Amino acid sequence: MTLWYDPREVLIGGDWCRTAETLPLEDPSTGALWGEIARGQASDIDAAVAAAEAALAGPWGRMPAFERGRILARIGQIILARAEDLAQIEARDVGKPLKQARADAVAMARYMEFYAGAADKLMGETIPFLEGYTVYTLREPHGVTGHIIPWNYPMQILGRSVGAALAMGNACVLKPAEEACLTALAFGRIAQEAGLPAGALNIVPGLGEEAGAALSGHPGIHHVSFTGSVGVGAMIQAAAARNIVPVTLELGGKSPQLVFEDADLDRALPFLVNAGIQNAGQTCSASSRILVHRSRFAEVVDRMAHRYAGLRVGPALADLDIGPVISARQREIIEGMLALAPAGSVAARGQVVADAPAGGFYVAPTLLADIDPAHRLAQDEIFGPAQVVIPFDDDDHAVAIANGTAFGLVAGVWTENGGRQMRMAKRLRAGQVFVNNYGAAGGVELPFGGVGKSGHGREKGFEALYGFSVLKTVAALHG
Ligand code: ADP
Repeated sequence: MTLWYDPREVLIGGDWCRTAETLPLEDPSTGALWGEIARGQASDIDAAVAAAEAALAGPWGRMPAFERGRILARIGQIILARAEDLAQIEARDVGKPLKQARADAVAMARYMEFYAGAADKLMGETIPFLEGYTVYTLREPHGVTGHIIPWNYPMQILGRSVGAALAMGNACVLKPAEEACLTALAFGRIAQEAGLPAGALNIVPGLGEEAGAALSGHPGIHHVSFTGSVGVGAMIQAAAARNIVPVTLELGGKSPQLVFEDADLDRALPFLVNAGIQNAGQTCSASSRILVHRSRFAEVVDRMAHRYAGLRVGPALADLDIGPVISARQREIIEGMLALAPAGSVAARGQVVADAPAGGFYVAPTLLADIDPAHRLAQDEIFGPAQVVIPFDDDDHAVAIANGTAFGLVAGVWTENGGRQMRMAKRLRAGQVFVNNYGAAGGVELPFGGVGKSGHGREKGFEALYGFSVLKTVAALHG
């Protein structure tokens, strides 16, 4: 796998340039350093914001919506043509198995396609009002939008966030994560090739506390979207608040799947496990809690344990079930959490393959059974390949446990009873509820976001276009 660009560069105003300092690029599968990336500073963010402002004052700011859509469509086509290259880069950079990285590349293209088609379809309305007036609304871009994205799904999160923002005519400043920024840089090259005007998208990799903090608190930014941890989300909201700037925060969760006594377990089982171990559990919407009616508890634990025992963990490019986690620090955090498991609660562990490089950041997937819902392992995000299984007695008990954390991102319900499906969809505190599936195959069309500490605002789907635009009311008195 070779890069077709210099990973030490930042994109500002259509120009690629080097920063004064760099950061090491680490391969999670081996622990080895394999290059350097840019270490953007506040001055680079200043320049990026100025370039975005210039783009809004230039051709980008005047471009008709359908032409913005055409550019996004071209970006999508180039992504599809280069999907394998992008997947190879993402797999190595993040440590995710190739098949998952391939799916991420296709999803990024799907975001471009979806927002390409949507760009000229968000309309205002006319409002009946007093005699002599004509009143209507306009949907306008915020202006300069800041995008701070994490390392777990760089392609997908960039796609949903930047795709929607560009469709609405904003000019973007993107700060990818210091752990994995390579596909964001590739995206910048692709966007240029597709004809995106200079300054409409600026990309400045760097540390969160440097480039990220400079971006979220920048007085020239008009909206910030952030995906990442709760602690950093709170800092970003506080920084943006100083400039009275709206934020969209997507902060993770402790998402449950509820397995009722009438669930079709053959159908549920792959979802129950995959939703916990995909991307080594480093997924905001990971299903880290499996709540099971007591009558099926032993059966579910047994069948999940059987699957866990067959899971294989190894290097990203070996394309096994699970790759390494992102860093040594992340592995320590996960292992620290797993060390809290009560005696006898480990129902099964998967295997790290014998030839996995010793320096890689591997964690054996771990299934924990009969964990008290109040236990930290059932309350806090682990962000690693681990799930807890918890029994419940009846529907009310299930809802109380499901809603009994600080989070509310996603929930899954497994039952053949139609009335219960509808009741659960209403009662569960979450931004998305899945009935007899989990994740709906990633659906780029489906609005996504949380309640509580999972954040606020919605990304994905048509709904995101409202978040990346601002409504203006025009009232004309003409007599
Ligand atoms: P994770 O715990 O998943 O690494 P973080 O919330 O730490 O998630 O990071 C997500 C993104 O937020 C990354 O791009 C990171 O650089 C950025 N970030 C981290 N700290 C800050 C900060 N203080 N201000 C702005 N951005 C930050």
